[in-house]
Amino acid sequence: MENEIKTKVIGINVTSSVTLIALVDIRGNILAKDTLKTTDYPNVNGFVEALAEHIMLLSEANGGYQTIRSVGISAPSANFVTGCIENAPNMPWKGIIPLAAMLRDSIGLAVALGNDAHVSALGESVYGYAHGMNTFIIVTLGRKGVGSGFFSYGQPHLGTDGFAGEIGHCCIDVNGRPCNCGRKGCLERYVSIQGILQTAREMLEQTDHPSLLRSAGELTIEQLKTCADQGDELAREVWNVAGTTLGISLANYATVVNPEAVILTGVLLEHAKWMMAPMEKSFYDSLFHNIRSTIRLLVSPINNSDRDVLGASVLAWKVKEYSLFK
Ligand SMILES: [Zn+2]
Repeated sequence: MENEIKTKVIGINVTSSVTLIALVDIRGNILAKDTLKTTDYPNVNGFVEALAEHIMLLSEANGGYQTIRSVGISAPSANFVTGCIENAPNMPWKGIIPLAAMLRDSIGLAVALGNDAHVSALGESVYGYAHGMNTFIIVTLGRKGVGSGFFSYGQPHLGTDGFAGEIGHCCIDVNGRPCNCGRKGCLERYVSIQGILQTAREMLEQTDHPSLLRSAGELTIEQLKTCADQGDELAREVWNVAGTTLGISLANYATVVNPEAVILTGVLLEHAKWMMAPMEKSFYDSLFHNIRSTIRLLVSPINNSDRDVLGASVLAWKVKEYSLFK
């Protein structure tokens, strides 16, 4: 049929390790998924070629390529305004990467690219707790980084250059740990998985307190949780420090934005049981008093692997339809 409405989009989540590709229908059902290893493609041209091939195969196996409306991509340091990944500190491709234009030229469909944290906020606003909220903050606690985006009066606040909400690169210690962004003491060096493990290693070095962590070999976040579960004081203190640090930063952020909620997401939360109480305490203790009684601190109900592809699918619906095959 001429001008038939297309009811499916592709949502893609690019991270430094894995890229998840999902076929999503108009109701937000994930119909099919595929992955590729981002680390297999040190050259971005090879990555785009592989991505295009995976999109074709996924589409052909699920109703045909002609049924796909558009593509949305979530990526670190991506700029919705330019469609480029710009100087991503944790990615294999350096400089300015025009990923949206490259993929559009390769597959002949409209492609929108958004910053991972902003895309998470989009997913949360359509499919999560932020549904119906006008002003809210999303903070993603990841393996290496901490991302964030926020909506104001029902609209994503992108900022003049598309980089609003970079709480992970707000400085909490001018003489602190070096960050991949080139500065020192950024929040994400302390409350990402890598940052928390570094705190644990430093505490182990600085004291001679007995701890189960001392026999853990190369420390992992799973071990840090397990040791805290078993009553290990040093492990619990690591979580305590991380939670307190994060709570204060979230309170500062919320005091500036005055949102209905701060919603937490990200892979760290799968292990962070012992961080939650100190985080919540320091958050409410540090908030501006006039907003303390209304604001909610929540953990997203959407699972981590689905949220970003769902958010990317929302982004795909926002881009104007375009097809070389019409
Ligand atoms: Zn930084």
